[in-house]
Amino acid sequence: MFDKILIANRGEIALRVVRACREMDIACVAVHSTADTDAMHVRMANEAVCIGPPSATQSYLSMPNIISACEITGAQAIHPGYGFLSENANFVQIVEDHDITFIGPTAEHIRIMGDKITAKETMRDLGVPCVPGSDGGVPDLETAKLVAEEVGFPVIIKATAGGGGKGMKLARTAADLESAFRTARAEGKSNFGNPDVYIEKYLGNPRHIEIQVFGDGKGRAVHLGERDCSLQRRHQKVFEEAPGPAIDAETRAKIGQTCAEAVARINYIGAGTIEFLYEDGEFYFIEMNTRLQVEHPVTEAIFGVDLVREQIRVAAGMEMSFTQEDLQVNGHAIEVRINAEKLPNFSPSPGRITQYHAPGGLGVRMDSAIYDGYSIPPFYDSLIGKLIVHGRDRPEALARLKRSLNELIVDGIDTTVPLFRALLEEETVQSGNYTIHWLEKWLETNLGGTG
Ligand code: ADP
Repeated sequence: MFDKILIANRGEIALRVVRACREMDIACVAVHSTADTDAMHVRMANEAVCIGPPSATQSYLSMPNIISACEITGAQAIHPGYGFLSENANFVQIVEDHDITFIGPTAEHIRIMGDKITAKETMRDLGVPCVPGSDGGVPDLETAKLVAEEVGFPVIIKATAGGGGKGMKLARTAADLESAFRTARAEGKSNFGNPDVYIEKYLGNPRHIEIQVFGDGKGRAVHLGERDCSLQRRHQKVFEEAPGPAIDAETRAKIGQTCAEAVARINYIGAGTIEFLYEDGEFYFIEMNTRLQVEHPVTEAIFGVDLVREQIRVAAGMEMSFTQEDLQVNGHAIEVRINAEKLPNFSPSPGRITQYHAPGGLGVRMDSAIYDGYSIPPFYDSLIGKLIVHGRDRPEALARLKRSLNELIVDGIDTTVPLFRALLEEETVQSGNYTIHWLEKWLETNLGGTG
């Protein structure tokens, strides 16, 4: 096992990794920009190294600075968290060239899954069901027209390198196709340096269901059920739950087994998420994320496992600490993402937190790196905390969420907490009977067309 791990991240996820390390008796090194000198992850780690100015490109994304921090402190492994360098295959290669262990999948797997066209081809070959669409990339408008006619409108044009909801354009009819095609290519090129796009059938009423998988890198893999992340704004998740309200045990076992077998066959190591759209009882693969997800705590809650601990174990060459049979669903968990954002426009709301009180009690977990008097810097993601509740069933989890949101105090800045308080009053949220388009429509009606 490692003696010392460097955490190449910030905020709540850096703290999350520190906590796992502490329980495993592993020392941890925090890295931080000059804007994060007072950050909680810096205070909680055993050591901290400043790796650059506020701009992420010069700090949290600076590979030489992070590698140097490892060398200076003698850290043997790097946990990347999510975002930043967590899905950067070149970084993984460089880390390994320096004889440091990357806590995550291999560079090759990250490369395959990071390119959505290759990911889809790979998954199809592994027997995973995919959204109907183009066979690989679509090089020009003429081909796009042919494919779209064949697949049938509406279609969605997607940048192969896209992520975070960027580089995706809907064409409802043939008249929209040209502009959707050009915009998706342009967004792919400007945001991700790759203009290649592909086409998928646009599903009208799906849920977003994702399967958590975990591999040991030696051909053994398990699944940890699904998460339903259908409540989305601009293709970004805001509320996640496990198990999915629309998934029964038999469906879970079947799709879970397909996913576990697929990743076992490629000797996948560590945590991964296979994302699907789910409509009329059918699963359609959209992408695989080769990292720990923001919403991993809902899975941890219902299976009673620590996924970060598990990531560290397999990276150190140890066996997984559970088998498929050990993994039994227990109750229901919900997570809400608390962002420093001002409603109704979701505009960033950085600044000083004048008062903070975290909710507590049975089945409540608050993953956050904020504290009384902390100043949220304006340079990074607006996620400031995740409130996760666990109950014996969905109604209990919902009641616990409502109670916890009422206990939570974050003063001095605006947050998305009022959104969740309002959503919990909605019959659709209470029944769990929503699709990926529901929240956008709700925001339009209730917050005045700002969704
Ligand atoms: P990203 O990598 O940007 O997150 P994804 O491919 O994972 O992109 O898709 C994100 C979200 O976009 C999905 O959860 C869903 O809401 C929507 N989406 C993606 N593909 C389709 C599709 N074929 N039809 C309808 N909605 C889609």
